[in-house]
Amino acid sequence: MILLSINEILKKYYGYDDFREGQREIIESIISHRDTFGIMPTGGGKSICYQIPAMYFGGVTIVISPLISLMKDQVDTLNSLGIKSAYINSSLSNEELNTIIHRASMGDYKLIYVAPERLESHLFRNILMILPVDQIAIDEAHCVSQWGHDFRASYRMISSLIEDLNPRPVISAFTATATELVKDDIVRLLELQEPNIYVSGFNRDNLSFKVVKSRDRKSYIVDYLKSNIESSGIIYAATRKDVERLYIFLKKLDFSVTKYHGGLEDEERKENQDLFLYDDAKVMIATNAFGMGIDKSNVRFVIHYNIPRNIESYYQEAGRAGRDGEEGECILLYDSRDINTQQYLINTSIANSDRAAIEYDKLQSIDNYCHTNKCLRKYILEYFGEDITWDNCHNCSNCTQDYELKDITVESQKIISCVYRMKESYGVGLIAEVLRGSKNQKILALAMDKLSTYGIIKNYTIGEIKEIINYLISEKYLALTKDMFSIVKLTNKAVQFIKESETIYMRIEATSKNTKGESGLFNELKALRKVIAENEKIPPYIIFSDATLKELSAKKPINKEDMLLIKGIGEVKFERYGEDFMEVIKKSNVS
Ligand code: ADP
Ligand code: MG
Ligand code: ZN
Repeated sequence: MILLSINEILKKYYGYDDFREGQREIIESIISHRDTFGIMPTGGGKSICYQIPAMYFGGVTIVISPLISLMKDQVDTLNSLGIKSAYINSSLSNEELNTIIHRASMGDYKLIYVAPERLESHLFRNILMILPVDQIAIDEAHCVSQWGHDFRASYRMISSLIEDLNPRPVISAFTATATELVKDDIVRLLELQEPNIYVSGFNRDNLSFKVVKSRDRKSYIVDYLKSNIESSGIIYAATRKDVERLYIFLKKLDFSVTKYHGGLEDEERKENQDLFLYDDAKVMIATNAFGMGIDKSNVRFVIHYNIPRNIESYYQEAGRAGRDGEEGECILLYDSRDINTQQYLINTSIANSDRAAIEYDKLQSIDNYCHTNKCLRKYILEYFGEDITWDNCHNCSNCTQDYELKDITVESQKIISCVYRMKESYGVGLIAEVLRGSKNQKILALAMDKLSTYGIIKNYTIGEIKEIINYLISEKYLALTKDMFSIVKLTNKAVQFIKESETIYMRIEATSKNTKGESGLFNELKALRKVIAENEKIPPYIIFSDATLKELSAKKPINKEDMLLIKGIGEVKFERYGEDFMEVIKKSNVS
């Protein structure tokens, strides 16, 4: 067999012409047998980074991946590309397991996916010792660290497994979100040897970001789903109860929805997940239990019904939109009451006060995200430590939406002086009520109606006043204490502002609606994809991604050469599906 170059592998199997940012460097590092750690955003293309080396090497690559239920998906994808692979997990019968092990020992597979829990089995480790293992790839490597989200104790077994293997295979690790703390933990706990570490830019141009405030969330979702009826998407809600309620609400209105959370039986979860993966249900309503390892590439939108607990989780969850490189919309529906829920969760679940302070701080950052005037993309990227030189991304609600700039200098002066008179001892809600002149019991009991700032902002609702206070927090004129009580304090910037009386502007948004027209041919190709998927019992996006169908409907190739120029069509894919798709295209040319 002739050894293909990594570019040839990319073209022949995946049908892609170019590597994305970071992929080439990571792949070259792995095939030169250097331990390698790749940090790339969700949808950035991490899988290819260990799969191409797997094909390049003579032996087998073991992929440690966190979710048993999703391995099948990954393995189906690989087999559909003509790359032989298998998974080993508890869903297999003994007979199936023996067959796979037998075939593995014959060198039949390039990749074998396993769950970390497998590493606790001696039998399994003995089997690995007789296989020619070239590479161990650890996906979702943040699970190694207790400081990351999704911590999994079995990930800690990996380093002892590696010690057992002789010769030592090259180790590669991948994650989308790693703070310095988590990064160091991964390198240390996996005992990576002088690893090459690649951090690729976190920007995802194809995703648009939007924060929606002060609107009824349910009616917003109904409007949105109506104008995006053909699209597949995820709606994240904070609790199981929220998921259930929203599910029932949307189901009654006949939307194509399904649901997923930790309170459902395994079987129902699996069924619902499949409904979504196979495009039999367009919209998944879920808690954050859903999504890790989901590689459905044609997710067009991710809506957060409640604020997530930090920017890391938000970017990872929102990043599940648009993996195929086509447009994806990430919308966060903001309601200030959710902040209290999250504070309560931190307070009840984290005993260690240093850790709790970190979490409050992170919550504050996502809260600020919802109130900033700045480009949302820039805000996120700077949060992850990137140096951003531009100010406008033209693809987030702050950069594109129609808005008015409102001079809130006077309001800001009143608010700051009220915080001062209330002795910097209360939260946003109470301050807003005092300014509005509310006759609430607590205010009267504390004699706050006697303050000179009582009732000095009359022409705003309490919600609007809170909005301005939150804006001043996000702009750091005010700060909240890092605990459950979130007491508003003045900062030096506020003192400066009062002295120098600069002007403060805030954006007031005008709502706009998105509409997407899709061509008839695109929908026909989608329909064909669905039929084939049903026949082959694999999810539609494994056959071709939306991006591939879009390109097909735009370029209308009707011969093999032209077909192979389309992104996502390699030789194996062409052999399997080329003729069927060309037929639909030819018909559309005639009509
Ligand atoms: P993640 O980094 O989240 O694990 P994946 O490996 O699942 O991302 O890749 C996301 C999508 O990007 C997949 O549909 C994959 O086929 C596609 N992709 C990966 N590399 C490239 C590339 N070089 N060119 C075009 N598409 C790519
Ligand atoms: Mg992945
Ligand atoms: Zn922007």
